[in-house]
Amino acid sequence: MTILPLLKPVRQGDNRYMFAIYCSGHQSRVLLFSEHIDELVNGPDGVLLRWRCTCGTTGTTHIPRDHADLQEVA
Ligand SMILES: [Zn+2]
Repeated sequence: MTILPLLKPVRQGDNRYMFAIYCSGHQSRVLLFSEHIDELVNGPDGVLLRWRCTCGTTGTTHIPRDHADLQEVA
């Protein structure tokens, strides 16, 4: 499962993935797991990740496609 290659997923013992977002409910950065992802939307400029925090706050994080090209260009 490699749906979040740009988020530097961390493989856990139970195959869960975590990623960090800024949650307005927590008013801080929060680590969420793959089970908190509502939807992944591929767009021309990258991926839009819709998440739902453990506190109930929902939000979206845009992952620019250029971010993936930096390694190859450099
Ligand atoms: Zn939260």
